[in-house]
Amino acid sequence: MHEKTAKPSSTSLSAGLSVREAQACILGKATPLGTEDISLERALGRVLAVDIRANRDLPPCDISAMDGYAVRAADIANAPVTLQIVDDIRAGDAPRAALRRGQCARIMTGAPVPGGADTVVRVEDTRPSPDDAVEILVPVPAAADIRRRAENMRQGEIVLRAGTSIGPGTVGVLATVKQATVTVYRQPCVAILSSGNELEALREPFDPARIPDTNTYALMAQVQAQGVEPERLGITRDDPAELSGFLERGLANDLLLISGGASVGVHDHVRPTLAALGVAMHFWRVEMRPGHPAAFGTLGHTLVFCLPGNPVSSMVCFEQFVLPALRALTGHQHLFRRTVPARLTQSIKSRPGRVEFVRVTLTRNASGIYEAVHAGSQSSGDILGMARADGLLIVPSASKGLATGETARVQLLETGAYQAESDLGDGV
Ligand code: AMP
Ligand code: MG
Repeated sequence: MHEKTAKPSSTSLSAGLSVREAQACILGKATPLGTEDISLERALGRVLAVDIRANRDLPPCDISAMDGYAVRAADIANAPVTLQIVDDIRAGDAPRAALRRGQCARIMTGAPVPGGADTVVRVEDTRPSPDDAVEILVPVPAAADIRRRAENMRQGEIVLRAGTSIGPGTVGVLATVKQATVTVYRQPCVAILSSGNELEALREPFDPARIPDTNTYALMAQVQAQGVEPERLGITRDDPAELSGFLERGLANDLLLISGGASVGVHDHVRPTLAALGVAMHFWRVEMRPGHPAAFGTLGHTLVFCLPGNPVSSMVCFEQFVLPALRALTGHQHLFRRTVPARLTQSIKSRPGRVEFVRVTLTRNASGIYEAVHAGSQSSGDILGMARADGLLIVPSASKGLATGETARVQLLETGAYQAESDLGDGV
């Protein structure tokens, strides 16, 4: 796909890549996995690996869009006029015969329009008349309320392209063209490992001296939000032998996420242990805050992400690096979170040198403009900020901060797509 190799922004690798360079480096190694055939009922959230064609014309013939009477437009040009009812056509019926002058057919929505008829008059525009007749009250132009043969899709035409993400509407199309089995890109196997002697597992007894393992579950949820079910490897202590055992298991996957232990402390063994297992590291610093010690390597086709231990850093790095990789592996064409411009209703300080991802909540003002406010504490250890955030506001690396009223880009997180009120605008 993207066979670019990222060049470090400085001659020294320890200076770290820019976020953009790091993304390019990762995406150069993340090509879609193979394909598999799955049943349509399981296809939501997957990506089509083949073009899909219509297997029939739809509608298969001219059909009525309304309950009413199929007539010859010329017969009713001087309505009101009374016509003889010669047929009663329901959806699924075949019309008995073509209409002759002065005749009409009672017709239901979805029923085939009989020969001779060129328009449909709605029931509301008619009045029953004795002796199998009906009074047509208004003239109707030709072709009214008729859905033409193949106006929705024509047999053989491509209705969905390979690379389409399958949403509920896509599932509807696939069912319509009778794709009971769908060829999609395979889902990656993703393993998640937390590292640190201090970590207390979710179901371990409470110990006030330890730190709860946040990252395993936050990262699992980020993967699950992409429709992929990860494997939880658990917690490894900061011990090279134990770590090595866990990593070996993790490296059997398409994607391995390790949080913690990737910095340069004497007890941070992740990078050397990965290297000892043959993983080639492509970068190990990114000029961002939070998330500076993010690292990325590969072993064969396996992508390995070392995420910083602080829960917010690990989640922010997931958003920038793991998410696009995961989406590339699963065949998605849109790899990145949507960004929107937002007006700051508060100033934001920043230290120049690294791009900063600020957790913000978003609201829309009366003119539809996004307004951003801090989502509370910006500590990279404070998971509460991440839980509250609707988005990550991007402060460019050269900036010393942004003033109230300035506009910045905000990367939208999963939240924020819903609102409290059913606000459909006027006239609804
Ligand atoms: P490290 O990257 O291992 O130096 O860890 C940085 C900080 O993140 C330390 O305060 C760790 O206790 C914390 N940390 C590491 N892993 C986790 C985790 N899985 N859940 C919550 N906090 C963590
Ligand atoms: Mg640690």
